[in-house]
Amino acid sequence: MNKTARPAVRPYIGGNWKMNLRLASAVELAETIHADLSGDAGGPQLDPRIDVAVFPPSPYLMSVGRAMGHGPPSLGAQDLSPHDDGAYTGQVSAGMLDDLNARWVLVGHSERRHGLEEPPETLRAKLVRALESDLETVFCVGETLEERESGDAESTIVGQVRSGLEGLAAPTPERIVVAYEPVWAIGTGRTAHPDDAEEAHRWIRRTLGELYDREFAAATRVVYGGSVTASNAAELFRRPEIDGGLVGGASLKADSFAAICRAAEARLGQTSA
Ligand code: PEP
Repeated sequence: MNKTARPAVRPYIGGNWKMNLRLASAVELAETIHADLSGDAGGPQLDPRIDVAVFPPSPYLMSVGRAMGHGPPSLGAQDLSPHDDGAYTGQVSAGMLDDLNARWVLVGHSERRHGLEEPPETLRAKLVRALESDLETVFCVGETLEERESGDAESTIVGQVRSGLEGLAAPTPERIVVAYEPVWAIGTGRTAHPDDAEEAHRWIRRTLGELYDREFAAATRVVYGGSVTASNAAELFRRPEIDGGLVGGASLKADSFAAICRAAEARLGQTSA
């Protein structure tokens, strides 16, 4: 794909809090991040052309949402049910997330895809439900260490993108973000080399082009996740193929998360977003 043909895209940063924090600390973290990014803390406001979302544990969605007001950041959920209503103990529907003013949802995070062994059909059903709803989706894909070492990274990633999206009508590109998250890099402190991340992003973008068209592939944001920190974010986000990041551990501290968001500002000049 000719990089210069890509239109301006809004950089995207997501903070996945996973099953961490307690109510008071989650609200405090949300308030501190909001104050920093909005300029209320006294520093400069984050450029509004950057999309930032945080994904707190579901029981805290309402309180965290209230703490952030109209944002930034916006509110996201870590998972959703493929069903609307009914006998699905423990699940949370798209409609319920909408009631809580969640704007984003994660689908296919490796801690569900691999950790909880959610099969591709389930992830696809969740993706379909998210795309039918008003939610915007971060669809996560990525290979295990074994798959990378055996030379199967490309086929794994391409297969995950295809099994999620093949046959579905093209979503509006702004409503879906694909997160490349190599399983071996998540929570390990071992970040993918930017060359390898870019190569994987090109596989993803090529597949989006095959599934839909070149314009859709160019306009869809592909972000990197896996041990992104305030120290390595700028180097990753400098790469034309890396439209931002999905951040776990480093999103639990307001200063490191805000620094990662600000590292994405450098992309604005670079991609003329
Ligand atoms: C994640 O949870 O999506 C993630 C990338 O975690 P970490 O940044 O801690 O590796």
